Amino acid sequence: MKEIVHKYLDEIASFVAETPEQIEEFRIKFLSKKGIIPDLFGEMKNVSPEERKDFGLLLNQLKNSAQQKVDLLQETIGKRESVNEKATDLTLPADFISLGSRHPLSIVRKEIIDIFSKIGFTVSVGPEIEDDWHNFTALNFPLEHPARDMQDTFFIEKSPDIALRTHTSSVQIRVMEKEKPPIRSVFPGRVFRNEAISARAHCFFHQVEGLYIDENVSFADLKQTLYYFATEFFGPDTQIRLRPSYFPFTEPSAEMDISCFICGGKGCKVCKGSGWVEILGCGMVDPNVLENCHIDSKKYTGFAFGMGIERTTMLKYQINDIRLFFDNDLRFLRQFESQS
Ligand SMILES: [Zn+2]
Repeated sequence: MKEIVHKYLDEIASFVAETPEQIEEFRIKFLSKKGIIPDLFGEMKNVSPEERKDFGLLLNQLKNSAQQKVDLLQETIGKRESVNEKATDLTLPADFISLGSRHPLSIVRKEIIDIFSKIGFTVSVGPEIEDDWHNFTALNFPLEHPARDMQDTFFIEKSPDIALRTHTSSVQIRVMEKEKPPIRSVFPGRVFRNEAISARAHCFFHQVEGLYIDENVSFADLKQTLYYFATEFFGPDTQIRLRPSYFPFTEPSAEMDISCFICGGKGCKVCKGSGWVEILGCGMVDPNVLENCHIDSKKYTGFAFGMGIERTTMLKYQINDIRLFFDNDLRFLRQFESQS
């Protein structure tokens, strides 16, 4: 009897299966009610009492190894099948590779830079962390100017003041300190204001500043340059108008409006019925600013302008909440895939 059990043990040890059906066959052969192992347990009564204990242990060993074999084979073949199902169907289409797209602010920043590049403007950048000189003093901000107040500026250190720049105008100073006229450059960048976040305002946003310094630069040059920009960016029928304004670093200063590109000047929700939309601030560089940067204000004149990229983008694409730019919501960002 023992020899038969050892023969079955060898058979179980060397058994291999390729399919679930072969495993099932093996299970029925050894473990089912009418299989070999229950049958052998039935033979116990024919074994002599002194050998019965050993034989019982041997049968238990046989039963365990058969059960373990079934478990192991089922696990292995099961895994292989699930891998095969995924990997081998060559008729399936390949996985779709999802490409990202440019952020709307990047699209508009590039468009603005491209327009000014065509008329000879280069691009310069400056640091986001600035000292008081570059952000305020050299730009002719009076000591008591409200922009210096804690409510508007994120200060990093006090006396000497170090702050997150509140505008890209600080780059004007850095460029004028470094380069000699003629200077013709735009400065795109991120700026920071200590403001409550709402649909219309954020504590950081982006600007593009422009600067042109040379001999005999006049207000007419400023107007012509900005008219060129407006027609390139908003369309050839765009009209502009300049309204007197005030900035510490330009004199005279102006705000530029464009004729509403939605209603063509008739009046609509975007232009609040006026037919005009405010688009940027500008002016002739104040002689004090030129002198602060060691540029002879008797010999040279220049103009500067600055616009918010968020505001321009919101106007162009009819976006009504500035926070959408920073939420990283793919449903919003994917709308600009065709633009980039
Ligand atoms: Zn309108």
